[in-house]
Amino acid sequence: MIIALTGTPGTGKTTVCEIIKEHSQYRTKFSIIDVNKLVLDEKLYNGKDEERDTYEADMDKLEERVKQEIQKRTVGMDIIMEGHLSHLLPADAIVVLRAHPVALRRRLGKRKKYSFQKVKENANAEALDVILVESVERNKNVFEINTTDMNLLAVVKSLILIIEALKHGKGPEEFLPGKINWIEQVEMD
Ligand code: ADP
Ligand code: MN
Repeated sequence: MIIALTGTPGTGKTTVCEIIKEHSQYRTKFSIIDVNKLVLDEKLYNGKDEERDTYEADMDKLEERVKQEIQKRTVGMDIIMEGHLSHLLPADAIVVLRAHPVALRRRLGKRKKYSFQKVKENANAEALDVILVESVERNKNVFEINTTDMNLLAVVKSLILIIEALKHGKGPEEFLPGKINWIEQVEMD
């Protein structure tokens, strides 16, 4: 099964995957593809938006490259594509990590390379459900995990629970989208 693990920057995607890689009981079951690393290492972008300090990924090239990468992985392992673009790639299911905009501002505020403007932009995107909306437009199997008051190991366990349920033909109700409403957290200029 191929799972896209997506979410606004700061929602915990990379840390969740680090935990999976650290634990042998998870590492042997889940093979992780770091989508951002592929984009940057192999220059799979059309250019850089200097003002917003983001790369514009070449999604066609990225999709080709990810397909190749999936072929190389051990048969029988579940693939987790990790990154805020992963939901734009073909997947059996999408898991969107969510975090309350206030918590997100706090987490991203610690990133030295993130400007005040970039923190705000991401918090607003989270408040507006941008990635969730893009996900449900593309895939019928979309789940979300509200990580706001969860510890990271609990987030890992929720992700694995979703994947295991899907493999048994179930979609865990607890993680279906639509339970989050952070629209009032949008910050105007
Ligand atoms: P992403 O890869 O989605 O951008 P990271 O995994 O880099 O996010 O996490 C961003 C920061 O937020 C890190 O400092 C991480 O420790 C913290 N963080 C992530 N998830 C949680 C959580 N559930 N609770 C507390 N802190 C978290
Ligand atoms: Mn990350």
